[in-house]
Amino acid sequence: MGRKALITGVTGQDGAYLSQLLLGKGYEVHGLVRRSSHSEVDDHRLKWIGVRDDINFHDGNLTDLSGLIRVVREVKPDEVYNLGAQSFVKASWQQPLLTTEVTAKGVANILEAVRLEAPEARYYQASSSEMYGLIQEPKQSESTPFYPRSPYAVAKLFGHWLTVNYRESFGLHASSGILFNHESPLRGLEFVTRKVTDAAARIKLGQATELPMGNLDATRDWGHARDYVKAMWLMLQQDTPDDYVVATGRTISVRELCRVAFEVVGLDYEKYVRLDERFMRPAEVEVLLGDPAKAERQLGWTADTTFEQLIQEMVEADLVRRRRAAA
Ligand code: NDP
Ligand code: GDP
Repeated sequence: MGRKALITGVTGQDGAYLSQLLLGKGYEVHGLVRRSSHSEVDDHRLKWIGVRDDINFHDGNLTDLSGLIRVVREVKPDEVYNLGAQSFVKASWQQPLLTTEVTAKGVANILEAVRLEAPEARYYQASSSEMYGLIQEPKQSESTPFYPRSPYAVAKLFGHWLTVNYRESFGLHASSGILFNHESPLRGLEFVTRKVTDAAARIKLGQATELPMGNLDATRDWGHARDYVKAMWLMLQQDTPDDYVVATGRTISVRELCRVAFEVVGLDYEKYVRLDERFMRPAEVEVLLGDPAKAERQLGWTADTTFEQLIQEMVEADLVRRRRAAA
């Protein structure tokens, strides 16, 4: 019999790529979806990637323990991937309590549901490089101390340590992936890469004239989501659960991101980008640079896509989308 996976956050960027990966490996894929005022699932990413009709959807919410228990009892998954979150750093200052409910306490809820209903299941927690925040070492590895700089990062730190604690307390096969920023044509438009690639496409097509931006000097270690979901799966195939940094080992500024994206459409970013205070943050994470040596060594994982290939793919996808929308 094929294996069963339950994914929270299945409608998000990583949920779409992970579903595609698992379906390709013969898994039965189940996804948790939260109810809204319309009955439709927000399935645009799953459709884009071509897996929408292959997923079994279950109503539920990370804030609702009883619902999670019901879903885990019904599905009896072999693997659980907890990707659901209020995932946007900037929004976490405007909605710190919601972020705490979903991104922190939601982890306690899903871990409890797994412990009670499927204790043999293998569990993946979507932890984040944002936990390093005000970096304590120039290159961040599994042993680098954390210093979160936003309500989002504080919530993620809770989820990370609770995952470690459930592993140590109850013997759950629970792993935490400390993933550095990863992007794709399916990234939300509020995140900086997609904001820039979409703007480059719109400006090229004459649909916009400028791009308001925040801190151009911040640097991030950006990889491709398609590569990063492979690391999630590999973590759950190990005999022993553990924590892994997943990164490319290269850090690039937001300014350079703008340059590369506009270059794809043959434009000079300096003519279009302007600074806008609204996109600055109360506390900034200036630099993130990951050391993926452990994931490479123990999981045999590597980031296959370069930053330049990633941005090119994103700009080209946005050109297609914006042309289609205007037609
Ligand atoms: P997205 O924002 O694209 O997706 C988030 C998902 O969480 C969506 O499916 C959303 O559902 C769901 N969700 C939100 N609130 C709830 C809730 N209360 N109950 C159940 N589901 C909920 O994130 P990504 O795919 O980019 O990221 C996946 C995970 O990895 C997240 O936890 C993120 O914080 C983490 N992460 C991401 C990184 C990145 O660079 N992408 C880096 C490190 C960690 P809906 O469609 O209804 O909104
Ligand atoms: P994060 O690393 O999870 O916060 O991912 P984001 O893509 O939201 O932001 C990455 C970096 O880009 C942060 O340092 C932001 O301050 C910086 N940045 C600069 N301008 C913008 C902007 O207009 N939007 C966003 N989202 N980030 C910006």
